[in-house]
Amino acid sequence: MIFEGLAEKLQNTLGKLKSKGKLSEKDVKDAMREVKLALLEADVNFKVVKQFVDKVKERAVGQEVMESLTPGQHVIKIVNEELTSLMGDVQSKINFSSKPPTVIMLVGLQGAGKTTTAGKLGNYLKKQGKKPLLVACDVYRPAAIKQLKVVGGQLDIPVFEMGDKVSPVEIAKQGLAHGVDSGRDVVIIDTAGRLHIDEQLMDELVNIKSELRPHEILLVIDSMTGQDAVNVAESFNEALGIDGVILTKLDGDTRGGAALSVKAVTQKPVKFVGMGEKLNELEPFYPDRMASRILGMGDILGLIEKAQANIDENKARELEQRIRKQQFTFEDFLDQLEQVKKLGPLNKVLEMIPGMGSAKQLKDIDFDDKEIVKIQAIIQSMTRDERNNPEIINGSRRKRIAKGSGTSVQEVNRLLKQFEQTKKMMKKFADMEKGFKKGGNMK
Ligand code: GDP
Repeated sequence: MIFEGLAEKLQNTLGKLKSKGKLSEKDVKDAMREVKLALLEADVNFKVVKQFVDKVKERAVGQEVMESLTPGQHVIKIVNEELTSLMGDVQSKINFSSKPPTVIMLVGLQGAGKTTTAGKLGNYLKKQGKKPLLVACDVYRPAAIKQLKVVGGQLDIPVFEMGDKVSPVEIAKQGLAHGVDSGRDVVIIDTAGRLHIDEQLMDELVNIKSELRPHEILLVIDSMTGQDAVNVAESFNEALGIDGVILTKLDGDTRGGAALSVKAVTQKPVKFVGMGEKLNELEPFYPDRMASRILGMGDILGLIEKAQANIDENKARELEQRIRKQQFTFEDFLDQLEQVKKLGPLNKVLEMIPGMGSAKQLKDIDFDDKEIVKIQAIIQSMTRDERNNPEIINGSRRKRIAKGSGTSVQEVNRLLKQFEQTKKMMKKFADMEKGFKKGGNMK
C-alpha cells in the first residue's frame, strides 16, 4: 500500500485520541510528538514537519476542539485539512494554451520515469480528446528514442524523432514545427536526462525553453527517492523554473516524504502521479483524496472515477437488465471478471475503500489476482451450454471442468455454489430496489 508506514502510524496515534471523551493539552502534545516522528520517518523534510506540527498543535489546543463532544475526531479533521493544504489544497491542472498546440516540456533525471511518463501523459490527454505528438529529445540515454517510439506505437500516438546525432534543441524546434504542420494540439517534449544535475543539462534545457516557450514545464521525479527527489525539484526550479511536478512510482512508495514535502519546499504543485508501469497508470493528483487515504478514510471519488474510465457503461446496463430478469449466467460472470480486472490489482482497489486499506484482517488475505485467474480458467473450461445452464453440470462434468482448468473438483464445486448464492443475492437486491421504486421513497 502506498505510504503504508506513515498511514499506519498516523492512524494508530490519532485512533488513540478518538477514544478519549476529553482531551487535555498534554494529550494533544503527546500525539503531535508521535505525528512528528512518523512524518520524519516517512522522510518528510524536517522544516516542513515542524511547520506542520506547529500548525496542527495551535489549532488543536484551541477552545473549540477541547470543548467539543468529539475532540479526537476534531483533531483528525484538522490533521486531514493540514495534510491537504501541505500538498497544495486543490488539484492543479495543466495550463492549456488558447492557441494550440500546447507545448509541454518534460524534464528530469535519468531513471525517474520521464519517457514512460511522456507516453502516459499522451495517453491521458488522448483519452480527453486531445491530439498529442511525442517528441524524442533524449539523445543521451541509450534506447530512450526507441522506447518512446514503442510506447507511441502501443498508444497510437505519433512520435517525432531525428535519431541521436542532432542536438536536442534542434529536435525540439523541428518537432514543434512538425506538430503545427500536422495539426496536433499538444506537443510533449521528452527532453534528455542525465544521471546527475549538471550545468550542461541545465543549459540545454534553458535553451529548449527559450526556443520553444513551453506552456508547461513538468519535472518528473521518482517518489521512492524521498528527500533526494525534493532536492532535485528545488534545483530544477531554481535553474529552469518549473510549473509543476509529476511524481512517479508512487505505487511503490511506502513512505511518502516526497509527495508530502515537494509543494511546501518548491511552491510548485504535484500535478500527476505515476501509479504503476502500465501506460494507463497516471492519475491527476488530488491533495484532499491523498490526505484521506493516508488517514484511512479511503478515496471513494477516486474509485468511482477509475470505474468510469475503465468500465463499459453499455455493458453494465445490459448486465443490470439481465440480473433483473434473472438471466445472469457464467458468461456474464466472466465478463464481469474482465471488467473488475481492468480496475487494476484487487489490493489497490481495496485500498481506496474507507477503512479497508488499514483493515488488519485484510492484510492476511492474499489478494493476489491468481484467484480471479483460477475462476476464469474454470469458467472457460465449461461449454457454452454449461455456462448458460449451470444446473446441468453433474458429477462427471465437474470432473472434466476441473481437469480442463487445472483445478480440483472441490474448487469447481465451490465456484458453482458461490455463483448460485450470488445470483440469489442479486435477485434480492433487484427486488428490494423494485420495492423502493414502487413505494416512491426509501423510508
Ligand atoms: P527515464 O530514464 O526517466 O526516461 O525513465 P523510464 O521512463 O525509462 O523509466 C524508468 C523505469 O521506471 C522503467 O522501468 C519504468 O517502467 C519505471 N516506471 C516509470 N514510472 C513508474 C511508475 O509510476 N510506477 C512504477 N512502478 N514504475 C515506473
